[in-house]
Amino acid sequence: MLLDIATALPSEEVALAQSFGRRIAVDAVAGEPVPHFRRSGMDGYAIRAEDTANAATDNSVTFDVVEHIPCGAVPKATITSGTAARIMTGAMLPEGADAVVMLEMTETRQDGEHTTVSVKRTVASGANVSPVGSDVSEGELLLPRGSRIGAAETALLATLGMASVPVYRKPKVALLATGTELLVPDAPLVPGKIRNSNSYMLSAQVTDAGGVPEIIRSVPDRLELLSGLVEELMESYDLLITTGGVSVGDYDIMTDFLYEWGGTLLFNKLMMRPGSPTSAAVRDGKLLFALSGNPGACFAGFELLVRPTMYAMQGDARPEAASSLAVLECDFPKVNAYPRFIRGRRRTEKGIVYASPLGEDRSSRLLPGLGADCFIVIPPGGQGLSKGELVEVLPL
Ligand code: AMP
Ligand code: MG
Repeated sequence: MLLDIATALPSEEVALAQSFGRRIAVDAVAGEPVPHFRRSGMDGYAIRAEDTANAATDNSVTFDVVEHIPCGAVPKATITSGTAARIMTGAMLPEGADAVVMLEMTETRQDGEHTTVSVKRTVASGANVSPVGSDVSEGELLLPRGSRIGAAETALLATLGMASVPVYRKPKVALLATGTELLVPDAPLVPGKIRNSNSYMLSAQVTDAGGVPEIIRSVPDRLELLSGLVEELMESYDLLITTGGVSVGDYDIMTDFLYEWGGTLLFNKLMMRPGSPTSAAVRDGKLLFALSGNPGACFAGFELLVRPTMYAMQGDARPEAASSLAVLECDFPKVNAYPRFIRGRRRTEKGIVYASPLGEDRSSRLLPGLGADCFIVIPPGGQGLSKGELVEVLPL
């Protein structure tokens, strides 16, 4: 449902060196062949291959060396029968030559100004020569739109002369915490209040998912404070994430709000633990996620729902995490009505991946998340799981 709504944001042009990790917003097509001149693949001598037709261990063929061709130089002489040019790897092949004989297969003789080289083997036409367009031909599609720009892609774009690249824009994400109990982190503690940690956790998650987060001041649990603010934030940002107020308590204002505002509620409950009271809504094509205030549920809601949505907004055609299997390291006797996503840690021994839950992951506890590198997915029903069983894990 979310991925049907989430579409790639408009593109922006960034300098190539700044494009790492982004997704290219155009098809990158080669405007020139690579290489664009005949290039030597070896250090050796450029010759005419046919001159070596009768070369053998007991019949060496000798060439006059007419030129030295370093990388970057344009050869002056044309190679004719009986002549050769000393050439370096990556240098341009001279006219007339059609092969390069490796330095190791030659014997050079210096006689004053005059250099000769002899060869005792036949060399095939085209040997150690990269023809024009042998790496990339002109007009070839090299990076389809939506490809992630990693190190190899950056090198390719530089080779193609793209000093700047159109990439999909990073989502600007507003983070709004609700709760009369919330204090800013530098406020002294007072009875009944807690410091807002969700906004900071989400800010890190948004950054990690390629977005630009902005923490908006938190709002107390009063419905009338939300309406204007939510609309305003949805206009100025690409995505809005709220936390808190989505359960069925007396002060759970987000639930009430999402029934009476101008947008469409997509869902307000999910079959998952933690995070079953999670809502998503859409208004004018923009998404709003109302995540639970429970830190563990908020974390899971972001990872399972918001992260893939944000990837799709950045042009990723397959934004969902790739799940794999791991061996569970301890019993998990708890029976669940809903699928449960427990934060865990993986280790590998003799090529086999093992996963252990990080303590008791009650959704209201923060500490179990420390050092987690995966969710362990516990399916609903059954008798729980035993140590040694295979479980699905999602990387974090
Ligand atoms: P709620 O979803 O508003 O019912 O909140 C569930 C629990 O999470 C309550 O114990 C809240 O105090 C706590 N909580 C809510 N918002 C935050 C937040 N921004 N940071 C840390 N804890 C929170
Ligand atoms: Mg609350």
